Amino acid sequence: MRAVRISKNGSWQAEPATVPEPGPGQVLIRIRASGVCFNDLHAREGRPGHEAAGEVVDLGPGVSSRRIGDRVGVPLWQTACGRCEWCQRGKPLHCPQKGGTSINLPGSHAEFMLAAADATMLLPEGLSFEEAAPLFCAGYAAYSGLCSAKPKPGDRVAVAGIGGLGHLAVQYAKAAGLFVIAVTGSADKISLIRGLGADEIVRNGKELQAIGGADIILGTSGSIDAQADAFEGIRPEGRMMVMGLGTAPLPLPVNALIMKRASIIGSQHNDRRHLHDALALAARGRVKPMIETYSLAEAEKARERLASRRTRFRAVIVM
Ligand SMILES: [Zn+2]
Ligand SMILES: [Zn+2]
Repeated sequence: MRAVRISKNGSWQAEPATVPEPGPGQVLIRIRASGVCFNDLHAREGRPGHEAAGEVVDLGPGVSSRRIGDRVGVPLWQTACGRCEWCQRGKPLHCPQKGGTSINLPGSHAEFMLAAADATMLLPEGLSFEEAAPLFCAGYAAYSGLCSAKPKPGDRVAVAGIGGLGHLAVQYAKAAGLFVIAVTGSADKISLIRGLGADEIVRNGKELQAIGGADIILGTSGSIDAQADAFEGIRPEGRMMVMGLGTAPLPLPVNALIMKRASIIGSQHNDRRHLHDALALAARGRVKPMIETYSLAEAEKARERLASRRTRFRAVIVM
């Protein structure tokens, strides 16, 4: 088989590798599509990719919940120790020993990949591998952030940053029947963003404030400053979900935070049920990932375009 490895200079090269054998509780997946997440760019070594979709082709000992031929996807977080405080409290997301695809488990930009059987999610009928793959990180994160903000009927939702994560967040918020405002500095994307269903499009937090603000801000931008800027448009009692990863501080005006009694909430893949429902909405045609596809041999081209911010919404490597 071939698998992408990060070379010393940071480029992605498809190299020959041995097809692994599934151990206890594992399945072997023939990967059909692997989404390229912005967070892949933070990795400096190893095998990148954590938005996998494919078919189960082999079962390890003891696997009973998955069958050969199942269409599945694999989320970022797969395993946890089962013994620590957080595992025992039913919150394996906080397990200090959790296993993450492409973090301490092999990545998905490869023809085959092992995964913990119980971590995989069955793909609903009618959802292609290419469209399913980006939902296993970007779609999951977008929908989970929206659900965790506890939207109420009539809420105004602003999505700050319309890229891989944000273009899905706009559609999920629209599918939930909410009033959706896209916040973007990319003038060239405006007609595409209208097509996603955004009710209003503004350039920054000041303009968001001017049109009435938002009860929920989904900070999906890879730019921390762009997420912070959108906060200017938060309404009283508003919730800001911080979702675009970064190491920089989030600079927010404390007076506005206090006077508006706003909440700032960090959000990632908060609950597996959000992943299930995110896939179901896409299978029903309510949400459609906008993708550009690459072959495994073109992985470096996909990485380079994302790194130089030329990827429109989501790159997917198909095999
Ligand atoms: Zn990701
Ligand atoms: Zn644990």
